[in-house]
Amino acid sequence: MLNIALFGPPGAGKGTQSEYLIDRYNLGYISTGEILRNELKEESDLGKQAREIIEAGGLVSDEIIVQILEKTIAAHPHANGFLFDGFPRTTIQAYILEGLMTKLNTQLDCLINLDVPEEESVRRLLERGKTSGRSDDNEEVIRNRLKEYDEKTRPVLDFYEERGLRIDVDGTQSIEAVREDIEAIARDQFKKRPVSLVVFGYPGSGRGSQAHALAEEYGLEFIATGKMFDEEIAAGTEVGKQVQTLYENGDLVPDEIVIPLIEKKLANTQDVRGFIFKGFPRTLVQSYILDGLLKKHGCTTPKILEIDVPILELVERLESRSRTDACMPYDNSAAKIVRRLRDHEHKTLPVIEKYGEIHGVTKIDGTGNFKEVFEACSAEVRALFEVGGVERVSPDA
Ligand code: AMP
Repeated sequence: MLNIALFGPPGAGKGTQSEYLIDRYNLGYISTGEILRNELKEESDLGKQAREIIEAGGLVSDEIIVQILEKTIAAHPHANGFLFDGFPRTTIQAYILEGLMTKLNTQLDCLINLDVPEEESVRRLLERGKTSGRSDDNEEVIRNRLKEYDEKTRPVLDFYEERGLRIDVDGTQSIEAVREDIEAIARDQFKKRPVSLVVFGYPGSGRGSQAHALAEEYGLEFIATGKMFDEEIAAGTEVGKQVQTLYENGDLVPDEIVIPLIEKKLANTQDVRGFIFKGFPRTLVQSYILDGLLKKHGCTTPKILEIDVPILELVERLESRSRTDACMPYDNSAAKIVRRLRDHEHKTLPVIEKYGEIHGVTKIDGTGNFKEVFEACSAEVRALFEVGGVERVSPDA
């Protein structure tokens, strides 16, 4: 997630710059001013309560702000983060934002302060007033808004200064120059985030070897649940012993064992550019858990790759592997191969489909040789490191 607050006096250009940021990073946009104006228009209870204050250029109560925030955040369940415009406007609201971010298992990355002197604000707002149709864009109300800004809002800067999150931008520059400054800041923040990928595919599609090679090439941590279990067994840990028993009985390893192992791995892995998962998530429940864990560890929304190989070719591949030294015990008969393929079809495909509805799935043609498939996957991984490349959550975006 990328969470940014755009800060500055009325007329600093927060709204103008917001448009660009939300589009580029697919962020949920939270402009408390805009939401309030809508409430006014709809003559909702909230709007009625706020009208007089807004029209006088005052700040509406923090109680009202909390209510509209909750509503708006709930309306953006798949956002890659949030852009706050015109919030927080009081120190109390800054505390509210801290709580809110914690609740979402994330944090504010930075507060960008658009620095504009008072007279420039007044000039811009009077100019805007000629066309905006906003009842609060007239000189008397503007002066009052700026007074409120000085008294109640400016101190918020100290709050973020102390936390090392305040970044100043000269807001008197041209719109394009301000945009470039903001873009550079957002890009820096974005790069701090580890990326994440999930590689799906039928047995025999090459998903494991591709994921492993991608991890090596791009400095990602390779998380394969099967491999993690084997390591626990080899190390003779308590978990390893439990897994061994489950294996011997032909049972699946339950989430109570899998999840803490993944969590441990995410928490203990430092200095990587991201994580690549294979063999996990295997159920819809696990996919939700993974999303939560990734958010908690500050990772980007997972990019999902599905390596696509026609069934007949898979059978051929697995069958020819069974005649080499690389033969796996579960591939040594046609019946076993068919069972594994069918298992994937019945259990994993629905998970990919559902998970895909949330994040979108990129299909990779898996019929070429290893290098060709690797190149296709690589292009997707590289896009993750480019700003805005991955951060599309809707499948058709
Ligand atoms: P804006 O569009 O951000 O300039 O906001 C227009 C008006 O809405 C402000 O002058 C305030 O009356 C009210 N408002 C917007 N955001 C807030 C906030 N976070 N706290 C209190 N009042 C707000």
